[in-house]
Amino acid sequence: MGHTKGVKLTILGSGTSHGVPMLGCDCPVCRSPDSRDRRLRSSLYVQGSRGERAVIDTGPEFRLQAIGAGITRLDAIFLTHSHADHIHGMDDVRPLSREAPLPVYGNRETIEELQERFSYVFKETQRGGGKPKLLPVQVSAPVAVGGLLFSPVPVKHGALDILGWRIEEEKAEEAGNWGGGGRKAGGWGVGNRACAVYLTDTSAIPDSSWPLISGPDILIIGALRTRPHETHFTFEEALDTAVKTGAPRSFLTHICHDYNHREIEAYCRSYQENRGLRRLVMGPAYDGLELIVETA
Ligand SMILES: [Zn+2]
Ligand SMILES: [Zn+2]
Ligand SMILES: [Zn+2]
Repeated sequence: MGHTKGVKLTILGSGTSHGVPMLGCDCPVCRSPDSRDRRLRSSLYVQGSRGERAVIDTGPEFRLQAIGAGITRLDAIFLTHSHADHIHGMDDVRPLSREAPLPVYGNRETIEELQERFSYVFKETQRGGGKPKLLPVQVSAPVAVGGLLFSPVPVKHGALDILGWRIEEEKAEEAGNWGGGGRKAGGWGVGNRACAVYLTDTSAIPDSSWPLISGPDILIIGALRTRPHETHFTFEEALDTAVKTGAPRSFLTHICHDYNHREIEAYCRSYQENRGLRRLVMGPAYDGLELIVETA
């Protein structure tokens, strides 16, 4: 991207916890020849215009996803929550953490779970074999990575309190004004800088989080299927949420095997037509999808 301003997002995975195809399933979607129906576990790669590199979640397929996207280094890892499909590839960041420990940001529950699940990483007892160098950080305030600001967005995943992330580019006139992590969200509005919101595994959004997800250029939002689920939005709930945020472009992720890519595209199209929302871009994400958020 050279020195042009903007943020590049790459969907590393768009599938639900079991991935698509699901092991042992021979339904039409799991047997689909359309590459967009192969959904690895959900994850996002974020690249800033100054070379910033971060991922949101490191699921079981992280290594293959990272190789596929050409990831050769990372500045930070952001976690939504500690379910297996979001963190079980963490060990594979090992070659990317040789130079310096990789900061891993999440809420208290997620970081505590990470330290328990990957306890060998944080102990001195392992002999032989390599392990990643990780720096787990519990966050409740925005984190700066170069010229990008990652703000935690508390959301509900069933009874669980998890995080979505708002990714924002700093304003040109604020260059050089960086003091590292922990900046107040109040200093950053959504406006003429690139802004994207990533919300996966969400079933409800607390009132207090709405200001954080309002007005992004792009929304990527978890949408499991059409039938209701206790811990995930349906397609309709996700699209309703997308409309409320005002995002001009929204993409569904964390999708199960009930529908193929084309069927979900058709679902989104009829949702838009029925509501007079044809000006919006709405559709399913797919693995490898690249999205550019340009600075206005
Ligand atoms: Zn999940
Ligand atoms: Zn299936
Ligand atoms: Zn989950």
